[in-house]
Amino acid sequence: MPRSVEIDPKAGFCGGVIRAIGRAEAFLENAPRLYSLGAIVHNEAELERLAAKGLISVDSLQDVPEGEPVLIRAHGEPPATYAEAGSREIIDCTCPVVLELQQSIRRAHARLHEDGRHGTLIIFGKIGHAEVLGLLGQVGGDAVVVEDVAMLPEALKDADLTERVEVFSQTTKSPAAYRALCEGIASAMKAVRGVPPGRDLAIHETVCRQVASRYASLGQFALSHDAVVFVSGASSSNGRVLFELCRRVNPRTHRIGSSADIDPTWFRPEDSIGVSGATSTPKWLLEEVAEYLKGI
Ligand code: SF4
Repeated sequence: MPRSVEIDPKAGFCGGVIRAIGRAEAFLENAPRLYSLGAIVHNEAELERLAAKGLISVDSLQDVPEGEPVLIRAHGEPPATYAEAGSREIIDCTCPVVLELQQSIRRAHARLHEDGRHGTLIIFGKIGHAEVLGLLGQVGGDAVVVEDVAMLPEALKDADLTERVEVFSQTTKSPAAYRALCEGIASAMKAVRGVPPGRDLAIHETVCRQVASRYASLGQFALSHDAVVFVSGASSSNGRVLFELCRRVNPRTHRIGSSADIDPTWFRPEDSIGVSGATSTPKWLLEEVAEYLKGI
């Protein structure tokens, strides 16, 4: 039996996911089923729980039978999805933070192209991620998506860096990686102009505050335990990044999907074990894992 097991007090769903799931569950109290455009949360165990209540994840609107309402998840969608939905009822659970980001990107794009100018809009995010697709859709795809600083030379090869540049981040990216990317952009602009870009480079702080505070506190939590069990769905990109962060500061970090993945030989009797997870990992799953660990 380990010496102690503690659940990360900051772990659990972010506000956007709590809101989306709450609305889906409220709807399903009075309806047999609800179609969700994409997985409402990147966590298999939570998806199974919601599927038992009638939530059906589909890849596109074509998979939703005529007349059935459709839920838009916290990641948001491009305008084309709303147009395609036509008169179909939409339960729009786009997170207010993402909604604000979509609007900011539209305004920035208009500024960058005012009076015939041709500035560049850069989005720091995962290529193909639903939130990024929703952001790109706000500007008809006219933005450069960069996943990391190493991609910059190729991504900016056609950009006119003598013009203004505005940069936004997907809400769940690492604040440190975003800073590194912005420094890379400033250097690339300086190399072209011969002087720092100054006010011609606008960096928007759009990493979600809840995510940023998770990044800040998780390392501390991982350090304060002998071993860490990090619970997250296989498809959660935020889970992958937060897990790596934990493992960097505490090499005895193990990533699992549920307690069935735990190997008791990972732990020693004198260990204090920390249990944490992604912003898509439900609290109930963390509690279940903690109970299992206490019984080892
Ligand atoms: S991470 Fe932040 S922005 Fe993204 S859905 Fe959650 S609360 Fe909203």
